[in-house]
Amino acid sequence: MIANEKKKTGMYESVLQQFEKAADKMNLSNNMRKILKATNNEIVVHFPVKLDDGSVEVFTGYRVQHNNALGPYKGGLRYHPTVDIDAAKALAIWMTWKTSLAGLPYGGGKGGIQIDPAHYSIGELERITRRFTYALGENIGPEYDIPAPDVNTNAQIMAWMADTYMSTKESSERSRYFHVVTGKPVGSGGLEGRDRATGYGVVATLKAWADWKKMSLKDKSYIVQGFGNVGLWASVFMKEQGSVLRAVQDASATIYNPNGIDPEDLIAYANTTGGLIKGYPKAEEVPGDSFFGIDCDICIPAALGNQITELNASEIRAKVIAEGANGPINPEGEAILTANGVDIIPDILCNSGGVIASYFEWLQNRNGEIWHMEDVITKLDKKLLTSFQRVVAAAAEYDTDLRTAAYIVAIGRIDKTYRERGVFP
Ligand code: NAD
Repeated sequence: MIANEKKKTGMYESVLQQFEKAADKMNLSNNMRKILKATNNEIVVHFPVKLDDGSVEVFTGYRVQHNNALGPYKGGLRYHPTVDIDAAKALAIWMTWKTSLAGLPYGGGKGGIQIDPAHYSIGELERITRRFTYALGENIGPEYDIPAPDVNTNAQIMAWMADTYMSTKESSERSRYFHVVTGKPVGSGGLEGRDRATGYGVVATLKAWADWKKMSLKDKSYIVQGFGNVGLWASVFMKEQGSVLRAVQDASATIYNPNGIDPEDLIAYANTTGGLIKGYPKAEEVPGDSFFGIDCDICIPAALGNQITELNASEIRAKVIAEGANGPINPEGEAILTANGVDIIPDILCNSGGVIASYFEWLQNRNGEIWHMEDVITKLDKKLLTSFQRVVAAAAEYDTDLRTAAYIVAIGRIDKTYRERGVFP
């Protein structure tokens, strides 16, 4: 297991430093800097839930809404002990950049509950989720703020949220509120392909990067941190490209096999252990702190934030890092990687497949349509490739790295909106 997520304030500082760097490069006005550094709303709720043993526990939930100049707030809900107001602020700001870069009609929000869900039964998780949704009340809504899954939340949690939110409405009106959350199960208004969209997007952007560098992903070795929704699906699509998985790290263990680990076989194993990789018989378990130093061509961090820092960045052997997670590299770690010539495909581009597919789900619900997998993948590919090309063009125009270029494209779109509309009153 790796070290704890570095202090959460680190992620907030990271996102602001990244913002300032791009703002300087693009000569952003002081007024826009003030507006975009502020988070519009920071909601904290405390709510009681009855546990299986009859006792009552009071939980704390968060929702931060950063900016909605381009449309409703959009972003995930995370169930993890590290969730707090600073983590939610950082992640909400990243969502604003991500939705803007992807050209979506959304702003950015993020939140969650400060819990370790492994300590609760399914019944308790359902009651916690429903009561959290009720406590958020009209702070979320299909045209206002639309949550989605993130770390330790999934389609089932989204189904409970949608059902709870809809149940607070007049019965004749309920079906108008389906799209209050995305990432629902397909049987409950979810989108075919939403489950794999983030991992698919990670590999699609890696492929676009490889094409740009005139190389192939075939036979390239890679390591993945996190074998949940993003890491697992990214590994499946990396296999399609002919890449070789050398090591995986999750919250339970770090496993290594220099001859390759078959992602599908590992998924089948994890399905028998509640999703954990510990004990997988076809790889050796190695110390967690050796993970980022493992010899490979590509590194895919797909777990938590601030995993690659000044403490371990110099160990990285990969030539490119594809950020499946949000904020996995802090600015000090990034400076070391850049000096060592490691390319970084930034999170707001690399993992944007999830929010793009969420947008498709929202449209599907809003319009009473049902989309199919082939259409979803085709449209996803098109959007991801367009974003990638915009970022590469901005990197050339501003003579800068891909992260700063991605920020410039994202911030530029919001800046334009403010210049057109002005600031009320
Ligand atoms: P998940 O809960 O499905 O999986 C998280 C994985 O990380 C699990 O395998 C878990 O064991 C592992 N993990 C947790 N703590 C760890 C630790 N200390 N060391 C190593 N591994 C650890 O979550 P997810 O949805 O796959 O999200 C992963 C990352 O991707 C997050 O940063 C999230 O914000 C980001 N992301 C997710 C989506 C999405 O659609 N789910 C979209 C964009 C970005």
